[in-house]
Amino acid sequence: MVVELISVGTELLLGNIVNTNAQYLAQQCAGLGLSVYYQTCVGDNGKRLSDAICLALTRADMVILGGGLGPTEDDITKETAAAVWGMELKEDTHTKERIQAYFHGREKNIPENNWKQAMVPSGALVLDNDNGTAPGLILEKEGKTMILLPGPPNELIPMFQESVVPYLKKKRSSALVSVMVKSSGIGESKVAAMLKDLIDNQTNPTIATYAKTGEVDIRVTASAATEKEAGKLVKPVVERIRGVLKEAVFTTDETVTLEQEVVRLLDKHGLTLVTAESCTGGLLGGRLVNVAGVSDVYKAGFITYSNKAKRKYLGVSKNTLKKYGAVSKETAKEMAKGGVFQTDADVCVAITGLAGPGGATKEKPVGLVYIACYVNDKIQVKECHFKGNRNKIREQAVICALDTVRRCILEHYHETARKQ
Ligand code: ATP
Ligand code: MG
Repeated sequence: MVVELISVGTELLLGNIVNTNAQYLAQQCAGLGLSVYYQTCVGDNGKRLSDAICLALTRADMVILGGGLGPTEDDITKETAAAVWGMELKEDTHTKERIQAYFHGREKNIPENNWKQAMVPSGALVLDNDNGTAPGLILEKEGKTMILLPGPPNELIPMFQESVVPYLKKKRSSALVSVMVKSSGIGESKVAAMLKDLIDNQTNPTIATYAKTGEVDIRVTASAATEKEAGKLVKPVVERIRGVLKEAVFTTDETVTLEQEVVRLLDKHGLTLVTAESCTGGLLGGRLVNVAGVSDVYKAGFITYSNKAKRKYLGVSKNTLKKYGAVSKETAKEMAKGGVFQTDADVCVAITGLAGPGGATKEKPVGLVYIACYVNDKIQVKECHFKGNRNKIREQAVICALDTVRRCILEHYHETARKQ
């Protein structure tokens, strides 16, 4: 089934607001196995909206429109869509009652123009709005469908989840199962090369890679008559991807983040963690503290920006700083050791680097970052060369540090297991 998205609103066209609904809807459609080939954004203009709808209907089986269902004069989506299919608007008693109830609940007088929202194209399926007054609408004609959703994301998202997803699932004759394999520490092109055979020969399940900063996610989606059958098709492919990418894979649970996985590993092995940051200035600590329950494993974070602070709080030697500089393997190592020494933690990860834009030399370019990780008396240092602006470099350093902790713990415990 081919779906096309139309976002309605002059504010979107002018760039006053970011079109997050389009991102959300496109991701949801992909997850449901629906193909989206075109997205359009159009202002609050009847003629242009009408043209956009007519064009979309020539290319897609289903058109999802977001925005312009409000009570004001410039909200014209419903009227325009109904006119395209020659549908009349009629008052919908159920919606009228809901609007009444919505305002009574808040003890406000109902503005006259809100009644406009109780007018519904004849034959439309009405989707209740639990977070506002404009109902969503599903119109069907000659095998094509238009789905109209309110613009505010806090109305559109729950309505999509609660009403549109079940509608789409019912409409689609097959069941779809999708698993997200998340990996870190390998770039997208390398992941694609490693999975080339699988990707080239994909039919059902399909395999798609999504690159984020420092992370590559691989979505495996299968369709079959039943959910059980689709699940059976997905499973061996996920296992093959795991087999190829090995420890780069950190989860197959879509909801799990890299920092959550690090916290889970620390917790599993009864380890405590300390961070020692220079160029990332606390970003790593901040990411870790995003995880609820991190207090069981995260002891402290040092932000040692100056050389003096590195010496004072982490015991980095004057000699090391003088001989190798603050951005060096040696300093990173001493920072990690110092973090453990100062706090008695089991694991310390240290970051020191050049985020730029200034401060570069021929030997030490912007983007050079050293990440050291200390786990139970063993220390590893990684030299990284990140690209991008200051923020991008710092973000990559944080993710690489999380990945390094994860891999060091895995390695340590695999080794211990082998020795036993
Ligand atoms: P309302 O009843 O609020 O008028 P509506 O269905 O008419 O709802 P719009 O008027 O198009 O929707 O948008 C209302 C608000 O919703 C916008 O000001 C904006 O904050 C948000 N919004 C609309 N469209 C989008 C979008 N595509 N992405 C993100 N936010 C959006
Ligand atoms: Mg509006």
